[in-house]
Amino acid sequence: MARMMKAGILHGAGEISCELIPVPEAGSKEVLVAIKVTGICGSDVSRFLRGISPYGFKILGHECAGEVVKVGSEVTGVKSGERVAIMPVIPCRHCDFCRAGEYSLCDNFIRLGTRVDGCFAEYVKVASENLLKLPSTVDYESASLLEPCSVALHTVKRAGITLGDVVVVLGCGPIGLLIAQWAKILGARKVFAVDIAEVKLGIARKTGITDCINAKAKDPVEVVMRETKGRGADLVLEAAGSETTLEQSIRMTRKLGKISLLGLVEKDVTLPQKTITDIMRRELTIYGVYDADTKPVPFNSWEASLHFIETGRLDVKSLITHRFRIDEIKSVFEKISRKREDFNKVLFVF
Ligand SMILES: [Zn+2]
Ligand SMILES: [Zn+2]
Repeated sequence: MARMMKAGILHGAGEISCELIPVPEAGSKEVLVAIKVTGICGSDVSRFLRGISPYGFKILGHECAGEVVKVGSEVTGVKSGERVAIMPVIPCRHCDFCRAGEYSLCDNFIRLGTRVDGCFAEYVKVASENLLKLPSTVDYESASLLEPCSVALHTVKRAGITLGDVVVVLGCGPIGLLIAQWAKILGARKVFAVDIAEVKLGIARKTGITDCINAKAKDPVEVVMRETKGRGADLVLEAAGSETTLEQSIRMTRKLGKISLLGLVEKDVTLPQKTITDIMRRELTIYGVYDADTKPVPFNSWEASLHFIETGRLDVKSLITHRFRIDEIKSVFEKISRKREDFNKVLFVF
């Protein structure tokens, strides 16, 4: 009989449960990884609420780290027992974008836990190219945050930060909080973190972000305009995905300034005519961002993230607010989708 494992199975919109299913068989070019930690991403919660995808997979989860337990016969350079993080994008390596190294823009985009079974499970099989080996000094919990760290770094790098910039991050979920840290590391003069949940602003302060604005108490546009003497921010990163924050992001950006859009928008958004006119009159540049860059040169956001975690210059531990067992997946997803303010980075620990 096949060996069995616990996995969170998505059955439909709002329906998920922990079940026993067979451990996947790794092919000759693949490895089997015993998952130690998987983080819950905002996109996992959206997918849980939307239900089954047209791609037929049933296991969510793409932010994970674990131990290699089986190595396919054709795999070289990886051994059983090695500690790894999994880079979840599975590029086709043939399309124009893959050939240019832009794997996250692959025409045939596949990611673990979004189009094939992911890491809310005790085991996952992946190609050896998807592994990033971990130094012994980086623990599994920190390593499970490498994916959001890489996405956050890619976001900041795509718009670009000039030394001395004033940066605003709207939305202090895990990605927003990491963006704020990267902005400081990359030379921003001032980084404002904005949210309506005091808990999240408290985490921002813990990670060294001192300029926190509670948008329930103060209008963030007014604060940013006042603090920049009416000029506006050089770069605004919209990481909340709401109508209000989208509008605020445009109103608080200086002439010729930049906006990055990365917050998942869950419904249609209407913007006032004046705000749209502002984009033109102030000649703003708006960047869309998706996933992270993983090409080997000239820059790999995963390797940079690992370096900054290992050297303690990126604080990922403070972001973690909850740890659960995979057996609890049903109640965990129900709770998070109802009441997001209390949760920041939530982990399943195996
Ligand atoms: Zn993610
Ligand atoms: Zn491709």
